[in-house]
Amino acid sequence: MLKISKADYDLIRWEAKRSYPHECCGILLGNVTDEHRVVTMTLPCQNMRTDSPVNRYSIHPEQVIAAMKLARNRSERIIGFYHSHPDHSPHYSSTDLAEAHWFDCSYMITSVERGIAGVTASYALVGSETQKKFHEESIEILANQSSLLYAT
Ligand SMILES: [Zn+2]
Repeated sequence: MLKISKADYDLIRWEAKRSYPHECCGILLGNVTDEHRVVTMTLPCQNMRTDSPVNRYSIHPEQVIAAMKLARNRSERIIGFYHSHPDHSPHYSSTDLAEAHWFDCSYMITSVERGIAGVTASYALVGSETQKKFHEESIEILANQSSLLYAT
């Protein structure tokens, strides 16, 4: 299961809408507790696929390394990635699976239909490079962290 704050969830869906008709993409930082991935920070990234941004995405490798360093400073790790599917279902494509290499991470996909954010789904990458699979996972949306921080 993927746990994410309402604020991060809304940001990802807004990015999907803002980037339409191109795909958006980004990195999820967080930690893993009891087999659940918990998002603590969303990092929107530039889609580097200028040749085919309507149905492909890629994140600059230097941005991934920067995100890894940021995660380490926060005693966290990269726990997933997100992108959007303009005018397509939120189901992963064969390219999405082929280009996924972060095992036990979440891959969130938001469909955008005519500029409006539709369904957001998430898939956990399991197995190994020679035998990998995406398992659909549920997304639990948590109350905004700021309201928890200031609750006392
Ligand atoms: Zn995709």
